[in-house]
This record gives sequence, C-alpha cells and structure tokens, in this order.
Amino acid sequence: MRIMVQKFGGTSVATKDRMRQVLGKVRAGLTDGRKIIAVLSARAGETNALLKLAHEWSETPDPAETDQLISTGEQVSAALFSMLLKDEGITARSFTGQQIGILTDDVYGKARIKEIDTERILAAFAEYDVLVVAGFQGITGDGRVTTLGRGGSDTSAVALAAAAKAELCEIYTDVEGVFTTDPNLCGNARKLDRISYDEMLELASMGAKVLEIRSVEFAKKYKVSVLVRSTFSDAPGTLVTQEDRSMEHVMVSGIAYDKDQARITLRSVPDKPGVAASIFGHLAEAGLSVDMIVQNPSRDGVTDMNFTVSRKDVKRALDIMEKVREQVGGLDILHETTVAKVSAVGVGMRNHSGVAAKTFAALQKENINIIMISTSEIKISCIIEEKYTELAVRALHDAFGLDNNSYMEAQ
Ligand code: ADP
Ligand code: ASP
Ligand code: MG
Repeated sequence: MRIMVQKFGGTSVATKDRMRQVLGKVRAGLTDGRKIIAVLSARAGETNALLKLAHEWSETPDPAETDQLISTGEQVSAALFSMLLKDEGITARSFTGQQIGILTDDVYGKARIKEIDTERILAAFAEYDVLVVAGFQGITGDGRVTTLGRGGSDTSAVALAAAAKAELCEIYTDVEGVFTTDPNLCGNARKLDRISYDEMLELASMGAKVLEIRSVEFAKKYKVSVLVRSTFSDAPGTLVTQEDRSMEHVMVSGIAYDKDQARITLRSVPDKPGVAASIFGHLAEAGLSVDMIVQNPSRDGVTDMNFTVSRKDVKRALDIMEKVREQVGGLDILHETTVAKVSAVGVGMRNHSGVAAKTFAALQKENINIIMISTSEIKISCIIEEKYTELAVRALHDAFGLDNNSYMEAQ
C-alpha cells in the first residue's frame, strides 16, 4: 500500500476557504492510488486561546486537564475537515490521537510518543482513503490525553509516517520551505532545496520553528523523508534528508534566533568540586532545561556561574538558586530577561575554519556586544541583547552570503 502523510499547520486550516486549499493538496496526494494520513493542527490562534482560558479558570491549571482542554483545538480541525472531504465524495474519517493509537508517556504538556498502533492505521485504510488525524496529541497507558509540546503536530505527522512506512511526509505551512533564515524577518532569506537532518535539528533547536525539534529527531531516527512546503502555492519546497557531500561545500546553511532566553548569574560562588553539580543537579531535578553555561575564570577561590533558561522558567530557577546559595555559598543572584540567542548552523563548518571569527566580526561591525558564546561541531551561538536580534540575524545572513550563496565562491 502506498501511503503519504500530509500535515497542515494552523494558518493552513484557519478558515473554510483555506481548508478548501488543503483539500486540493489532499486530492492531489491521492493520485497514483496513494492513501493519505492528513494530520491537522488547531486553527490559528486556537491553542493560545485555550491556554488563556485555562489560566483564567485557575492560577495553576492542572497539567492533565490543560492537555485535555488544549487537545480539543486539533479535534475541531479534524472533524470539520473530514466533513469537507465527505461532501466532496472522498472516503474519510477523523481520529483523535487516542483513536488512531498514539501511545505516549505521562509528561503532560510535553509528552513523548512511545508507540503507534500500525495495525490500526492499516485496518482503517481498508475502509477510508484519507485518515484525518488530530495532531499534537496522544494517550497515556492509563487513558489520559496528553499533548506533545508547542508545534507538536509536526511530531505527530513524522511519527505516523514512520509507523505507517509512508513514502513521504509533507509538512504544509505558510512559507515555501526552510529558508536560510526566517523569511518573515529577513527579506533576503533564500529557500533551500535540501537540508540535512542534523542541520535542521540545530536550526530547530536554535529557534527556527518551521519544524518542531522532536519531529526532526524522529525523521532522522526512522529515515523519514520530510518535505516542507506551502499550502498556498505549488512551489517544490525543501527536502529534509540525509547529509551528502554537496552539503559540505556550504559553510553556513542558515541563521536562527530565539528570543525565549533568560540569563541567570550566581556571583562569587566557591570555586571547588561539587558546586556546578549542585546547581545543575537541582535544576535538573526540577525538570528545568538549561541551555548555555559559562563559568567565569576563578579569582581568589570564587567564580561566577552563568546559564540560560527559557523565560517561563526564570522564577522557578531563581527560587532553586536561592536554595543552592544557602547550601554552597555565593554573593548574589542576578537575572536578565531581555537577552536573545542568534546562531549560525552548517555541516560545512566541520571542514572550514574561521566561522567563529567571521560571526564575531559581523556582530562587532554592528556594535553588538556578545554576552555568552557556545559552539558545537556544526553550530555557533551567541547570546546578545534582545533589542539587537533582527539586526544580528541580518548581519550574519549577509556576512555568510546566504542570500545568494556568494560566500563560498568568494573563498
Ligand atoms: P505551522 O503553523 O504551519 O506549523 P509555524 O508558524 O509553526 O507554522 O512555522 C512556520 C514559520 O516558521 C514561518 O511562518 C516562519 O516565520 C518561521 N520560520 C523561522 N525560521 C524559519 C526558517 N529558517 N525557514 C522557514 N520558516 C522559518
Ligand atoms: N496547535 C499546537 C500549537 O499551536 C500544535 C501545532 O500547531 O503543531 O502549538
Ligand atoms: Mg508549527
């Protein structure tokens, strides 16, 4: 059986007219005897509206009930779209995450998919040509509804593609593919024809929300070919796929930014074994993820410990740091919520030197101060003041010649 997964994001299903455009994509997908799993997001703004509602009802909304509530946005889309398909004479039905058999752990709000019932999918195809699945959601072993984290319909789609051994997973969105940077922020951004899983993983984890991180992890693990493209045009899109030699020629493939960053500094903590273990151990125990960490050079037996967390976690992280300071000592705790991270990503960095120097020079030219730096084999990130984010992204995009790929040729 030839199966293709098509996922449609919030803007693509926002209105009846747009759903009609989605219907055109599904109809096109059905040619050549293919069956379609259409994964839908909630209509644009719906998940935020439901979350707001939860916070109006309760100061600390129960996580399981929050998931039960916000998962409904996707159910509405799936049911409405199935009605349109049926009216067009296409055999289809809607499924919740539970009905299609997406089993997750019980980490409400950020659940991980453990298993998908492939048999159930194949059985449903005996009756229907299109299975319309509500994205972003699953069910625990105990029968409680979970959601997969913001942007999680991408993950539902790729996971279903892996489970059903689909030939392709198309991700339809409001831009024509993966660009060298956010096209809504930088007019010169250029669409990429192809990008490797690893580069896409770095771009996604550095803030490029065009694909959710876990969806890329799934795609890489199960070798799912993912094609990102627009609901509103016929442009060919960007294929996310395995790395090949041609990708190495380009030093930097993209620039990402992330404004969801806050910096915390523990000043003058004792510089001795166990202090870092205590700070980051307590944060990990509380389930907080830390992004960048920088320890200043030691002076007179003390040091400063700097790290970044998501802005929503600042209050909890500060409370934890107060406790840590009581245990290990330290002068005071500072925090800043007006910082952002800009990153340059490319598998070609492995074979090219000077990427860091070029990044710093580009920021210096715009007089942007670098607060923290972190690197990996295929990425360099800098924490800067938030107000310079757009300027920094454009400066790096220019410095690496990403609008026309001229940088490589100039080398
Ligand atoms: P959907 O609702 O379809 O899931 P998202 O809003 O989650 O769509 O993701 C698409 C958005 O991702 C685009 O509108 C764009 O602003 C943003 N984006 C950020 N970085 C990039 C990039 N490198 N390439 C393409 N889009 C990007
Ligand atoms: N509706 C969810 C969100 O807004 C999931 C998604 O759209 O992928 O995050
Ligand atoms: Mg999305």
